[in-house]
Amino acid sequence: MNEYKVKIISTEYVTHDVKSLKFEKPAGFSFTPGQAADVSINKPDFVNEKRPFTFTALNSWDHLEFTIKIYTDHNGVTKQIAQLKSGDELIISEPWGAISYKGEGTFIAGGAGVTPFIAILRNLKSGNELGSNRLIFANKTKADIIRKEEFEKILGRNFINILSNEKVDGYGYGTITEDFLKSKVDDFNNIFYLCGPPPMMDAIELILGNLGVKSSSIVKEDF
Ligand SMILES: Cc1cc2nc3c(=O)[nH]c(=O)nc-3n(C[C@H](O)[C@H](O)[C@H](O)COP(=O)(O)OP(=O)(O)OC[C@H]3O[C@@H](n4cnc5c(N)ncnc54)[C@H](O)[C@@H]3O)c2cc1C
Repeated sequence: MNEYKVKIISTEYVTHDVKSLKFEKPAGFSFTPGQAADVSINKPDFVNEKRPFTFTALNSWDHLEFTIKIYTDHNGVTKQIAQLKSGDELIISEPWGAISYKGEGTFIAGGAGVTPFIAILRNLKSGNELGSNRLIFANKTKADIIRKEEFEKILGRNFINILSNEKVDGYGYGTITEDFLKSKVDDFNNIFYLCGPPPMMDAIELILGNLGVKSSSIVKEDF
């Protein structure tokens, strides 16, 4: 697999613990929205520490972007990523991954699991193809919602939030249950896109099964 050394152009926090990194795009590089790459930091102690991150840019942009949740509770790669500045280098692999757009449906994300859907929904928006796609986004608090204003603009009332640790008017409260899904989704015959922490994915797949959704209609990363 080819690897590319790319320079960081800019970084900014998009929530209190999520950073957007814009970086150079190698000539001819393209990806399918939803795909990820193996990424390492081009510094001696970290060059062999590869972690997967998802491209959140559009292919039409002249640069690439990752949207990365920073874990400061231990000395992993994301804690180092938080320190990176413009001019520092990443090493990225060719794009890979199973999540891609397969038709209209419901996107269900937990936390930083939303990153493949940022790419897919931005791409649909740019092609004027959003249709009735909806995003159900589960977070702990309102402050954790990644790209909140952008999703509100892109999806309007089809942007549905649920918070487990904070009560907010107009938002769901708690975790995603069968009743919650039935109250927000009117068609269980179309595609369901899932990305989030493994326990959430397991719970939602069980619920979707109970609601008659075939496993072939569920798009998620396979490991
Ligand atoms: C296909 C794919 C695409 C992904 N895309 C993205 C993306 O676009 N954006 C994104 O933010 N994430 C994404 N992830 C998740 C991302 O890869 C991980 O968050 C990242 O690898 C964490 O790296 P780390 O070295 O900081 O943590 P690691 O050391 O790899 O630890 C990962 C997890 O374990 C916990 N943990 C481990 N050790 C400790 C410890 N000692 N104390 C406390 N907690 C600990 C951390 O809290 C964290 O939840 C993706 C994952 C996959 C599989």
